[in-house]
Amino acid sequence: VDRPRPLVAGNWKMNGLKSSAKVLSEIQAGYTPGLKAKVELAVCPPATLIGMFAMMAVGSRVAIGGQDCHPKEMGAFTGDLSAEMLADAGATYAIVGHSERRQYHGEKDADVCAKALAAHRAGLTAIVCIGETRQEREAGRTLSVVKKQLRGSVPADSNSHNLVIAYEPVWAIGTGLTPTPADVAEVHALIRDELRRLVGKGEHAKVRILYGGSVKPSNAAELMAVANVDGALVGGASLVAADFLAIAGAY
Ligand code: PEP
Repeated sequence: VDRPRPLVAGNWKMNGLKSSAKVLSEIQAGYTPGLKAKVELAVCPPATLIGMFAMMAVGSRVAIGGQDCHPKEMGAFTGDLSAEMLADAGATYAIVGHSERRQYHGEKDADVCAKALAAHRAGLTAIVCIGETRQEREAGRTLSVVKKQLRGSVPADSNSHNLVIAYEPVWAIGTGLTPTPADVAEVHALIRDELRRLVGKGEHAKVRILYGGSVKPSNAAELMAVANVDGALVGGASLVAADFLAIAGAY
């Protein structure tokens, strides 16, 4: 089976103002035909910037995504945004189940699954995030935790077009720490194997499995070379166009 087309997605988290359009412009300028041939790029800014960024990105093939969505299409949910709203603003991706959402907003696997389903309903590709905490890794529970999160967070209607998995060890996010390539390989192999059950044989090989957690230009090539790593979800380094492009160029 051919390797899926890699995806490098930037998660801007709660960073970015209108003036950050400059960063998107720099990313677009650096997204050369050579790079386009190798890797797909997505930028997930705060929701306030999705509309503007999506308009800027028309024609450049940089995809735009949201960082979360509500399971429902509309209604009395003050402060929330539906997947339909993200799609209407021009997003084609939605990150769901990021560890910061799980941690600070108490999101459980079932919530993440409902959000991914909502993303699918709206025609978005869900980037479903999973990953173990430091304590779970130290207790030797990484594989069982990741398997449980995967089974609980991936909706039954998923396929290689509407689903991307991001393996993000919680202890590696924003810390500068990364797992060894062997550790990444072990978890990504488990995810690939589980996907066979979740999306079916054949289709499972085409789902992109991203690695996330302290990816930077200096470690990107090593991490992206690992078997079953089909791209990266990048936090901090995605706020600097040159770094984001260098990570994408590691392919
Ligand atoms: C993330 O939070 O998705 C992430 C990968 O963050 P960082 O790259 O900053 O570790």
